[in-house]
Amino acid sequence: LVSARNVHKSYGHNEVLKGIDLDVFPGEVVVILGPSGSGKSTFLRCINHLEDMNGGSIMVGDQQIGYELKKGILHRLSPRKIAHQRQKIGMVFQQFNLYPHMTVLQNIVEAPIGVHKFPRHEAIAYARALLATVGLSDKADAWPRHLSGGQQQRVAIARALAIKPTLMLFDEPTSALDPELVGEVLATMRTLADQGLTMIVVTHEIGFAREAADRVVFMDGGVVVEQGPPEQVIADPQHPRTQAFLSRFI
Ligand code: ATP
Ligand code: MG
Repeated sequence: LVSARNVHKSYGHNEVLKGIDLDVFPGEVVVILGPSGSGKSTFLRCINHLEDMNGGSIMVGDQQIGYELKKGILHRLSPRKIAHQRQKIGMVFQQFNLYPHMTVLQNIVEAPIGVHKFPRHEAIAYARALLATVGLSDKADAWPRHLSGGQQQRVAIARALAIKPTLMLFDEPTSALDPELVGEVLATMRTLADQGLTMIVVTHEIGFAREAADRVVFMDGGVVVEQGPPEQVIADPQHPRTQAFLSRFI
C-alpha cells in the first residue's frame, strides 16, 4: 500500500531524511521506533504531504504523493489535488487538537461533510459507529473540554477515521497523556489493527510494538537502521544502535 523510495528531506543544511526506503503492505501494522530527532515525524509528514520531499518518491496505493503522471511526464499536484490524495490518509498527532467550540460528534463529521461532501445523514451515522469502535458512544454530544485526555485522543482517532482512509498514521499518539490513560488509547489502536486497518505508528510504547506490530522499523539519523518482526528487532536486535536504543527500555 505504501512504497517509499530513497526519501530525502532537508531543512536548510540540516539533512533530516537521508534516503528512507519503506514498504507497507495492506493490513500491516508497522511501528517506527527511534531516538528523538531521528526524523520519524518528518517521514510521516512526507507521507501525507504536510512536508515537501527534496528527493525520492512515495507511493500510496496507485498514487504518487504530490505528483501525477500526465502524458508520461510527472507534474506537481495542485493544492486541491493534494487535498484529495490526503483524503486516503488519516493522521493522529500527539496533540489531539479537537475543535473546542464543537461537540464530539461535530468534530468527527466536520471534515466528511464540510470538505469531502459526504451526505450529512451518512456522515453522522458513520461517526456514531466510529464512536462505538473507540468506546465513546455516550459522548457524542459532550464538549472536548469535558473529556479526559485519553477520551479526547480516542475522539481524534475517530475523527481521522471519518474520512475512510486506507492508511492511518499515528505520531506518538500517547506521549501527551497521563500514564494511566495510555492503555485505553493503545487498546483502541489494537482494535483497529485487528480490524485490518493499515497503520504506521511512531511510538515509544515498546509493549505495543511487541504485541501489535507486524513489523518494527528502527530509524536513526535519518535512515532505516534495522527492520523486521518484533520478536527479531525488539528481542534480538542486530545493529548496535538498535541495541543501544532498546537497552534504555529494559
Ligand atoms: P521526536 O522523537 O523528538 O519526535 P523525530 O524522530 O520525530 O523526533 P523529527 O521531528 O522528524 O524527529 O525531526 C528531525 C530533525 O528535523 C530534528 O533535528 C528537527 O530539529 C528538525 N526539524 C523538524 N521539523 C523542522 C522544521 N519545520 N524546520 C526545521 N527543522 C526541523
Ligand atoms: Mg516526532
